[in-house]
Amino acid sequence: MPFGYHNKILRADLTEGKTSIEEPGDLVYRKYMGGSSLALYYLLAELPKGTDPLSPDNVLIFAPSIITGTQIAGGSRYTVAARSPLTGAYGEAEAGGWWGPELKRAGFDAIIIKGKSPKPVYLWIHDGEAEIRDASQLWGKLTGEVQDAIHGELGDTKVRIAQTGPAGEKLVRYACIINELRHANGRTGMGAVMGSKNLRAIAVRGTQKVPVADEDGAKQAQRHVRENHTKQPGDLSDLGTPRLVEILNESGILPTRNFHDGEFDGASNISGKKMKDTVLAKTGTCYACPVACKREVAFEDDRFKVEGRYGGPEYETLASLGSFCCVDDLKAVCAGHQLCNEHCMDTISTGVAIAFAMECYENGILTKEDTDGIELAFGNADAMVAMVEKIGKREGFGDILAEGIQRAAEKIGKGAEKYAHHIKGQEVPMHDPRGKTGSALSFATSPTGADHVEAPHDPFYTGLNPKGGEPLSLMGMLEPADPLDMSPKKVELFYHGQLVWSLYNCIGMCNFAAAPLGPVPLRVLCDHVAAVTGWDTSLFELFKVAERSSVMARAFNYREGFTKSDDYLPKILHRPLENGKLKGHKIDTERFQEFLKTYYEAMGWNPETGYPTRGKLAQLDLLWLEDVV
Ligand code: SF4
Repeated sequence: MPFGYHNKILRADLTEGKTSIEEPGDLVYRKYMGGSSLALYYLLAELPKGTDPLSPDNVLIFAPSIITGTQIAGGSRYTVAARSPLTGAYGEAEAGGWWGPELKRAGFDAIIIKGKSPKPVYLWIHDGEAEIRDASQLWGKLTGEVQDAIHGELGDTKVRIAQTGPAGEKLVRYACIINELRHANGRTGMGAVMGSKNLRAIAVRGTQKVPVADEDGAKQAQRHVRENHTKQPGDLSDLGTPRLVEILNESGILPTRNFHDGEFDGASNISGKKMKDTVLAKTGTCYACPVACKREVAFEDDRFKVEGRYGGPEYETLASLGSFCCVDDLKAVCAGHQLCNEHCMDTISTGVAIAFAMECYENGILTKEDTDGIELAFGNADAMVAMVEKIGKREGFGDILAEGIQRAAEKIGKGAEKYAHHIKGQEVPMHDPRGKTGSALSFATSPTGADHVEAPHDPFYTGLNPKGGEPLSLMGMLEPADPLDMSPKKVELFYHGQLVWSLYNCIGMCNFAAAPLGPVPLRVLCDHVAAVTGWDTSLFELFKVAERSSVMARAFNYREGFTKSDDYLPKILHRPLENGKLKGHKIDTERFQEFLKTYYEAMGWNPETGYPTRGKLAQLDLLWLEDVV
């Protein structure tokens, strides 16, 4: 009997209206474990090269992992992956909550979805069984309405529901997938892929226990977290990720005014403290996590009605709908956040798209005639909220922004592309590499386009010391580096940090709950994997899985025509910041090219092509990629 997994993957062919169960075998689980790595294994094997991301042939995969659903803080994560309709590259997004653990309790390790249903449907998965049910009555409805309707139909409010929303149905290219109305697989447009298949939701209920090899051993990690989580320097239980608004503002790197500025006058009005003092209804958490970094906001006034069940804005949302659009109206940001969750849109791409349009408007490229009569100026909170809704409905000018800023700039013309800050077509998230250079590597080289969760951010490298004791010293990261450093030292730290976060995506771990941000140290995590699975495993083996995942993602993109010329930063990041503590700082273009070259070499990738060498493929037991790429 396997431990940590069931050896059961659910397949759904929506064209045929059929489901089946596959048993991949122990070797697949040990080599790929789950999450992003397992998803890439299947995508590379089964997704034909050049598939239109919004066609029935795209393959959509939901993958928890070997520790999902076991008792460990942060062990709630699952990956959704497919070819991205936003970038054309590898698409992937992770979410926490309870849905992933529930899928494991229902007896499945992953779901592979192919085809397109002739009519709207939802998948109902319960204790080893699955059925495809009619969802015609749910089509066009907001996420809250759909959740209520499915709970009513199934007669059980404990059913966990992951769904896309009206934005996914309308193929907004950055539509996301939301579970429990608040936990988002946010980036790369996985909700649009779901919508393109006429699949509105996946409802899950399970009563089985995830099989664990060593019950006592598997309890150790949670004991450690209970005793230590409030001692963390970056403890998120008080203010959650919104605490970052003021920290980054004081550091001069709070993305503001479409990346012109690093400091926002209105930062305190959209801060974690302001949220706590005004609109916070209660805090929230994910499965088995004492960190409880989630927020719920609720209020009703003459402008907005915001409900706690949609959660509350995280840091990324406060910045993208707030400082990036120069909006310092917290209630408007909360309303924009709720609209995103009701329609299922990535809040980062939504905010960046609106800020892009605001800059076009301020420079006369767009007028009120183009924007449906809306005065789309920086700082106009009502305009921001109105535009969020228009994007979700693909209504008027919202239809253009729903395409993502790369395509929107092409449609608008008149030089709009200089205000469209994206990488591989994905909108840049709310971190400024001009003040933390590791993020420059993260953004440029991420297989999913601009991505802030490739590796721990540079401040985590400032406290390293040769005596160890730091959460990352176990990786041999012993010497500090300045956030502005662009030497090979930073490449070394980024390389190892990237392995750590890639590992989390492979084993279903939340990066806020584990080292270096959270209370689960790497050694404890490794012991937990061993206790759950019964494998005599090691960090060496786990990092091999993590690197395998990074290389498979690189191979996926290479197959789709991406080259090292797609590893770039938007031009604005090579220009000086215009205000704040780091005014004048920029990423030097030539030094960045050197930085990239050193990174490729450190990865074992050919610096001329940016593709993994044959030796690297052999080292990771990935020579089979030569047959599929
Ligand atoms: S740290 Fe926060 S996001 Fe991560 S699992 Fe815990 S509550 Fe969820």
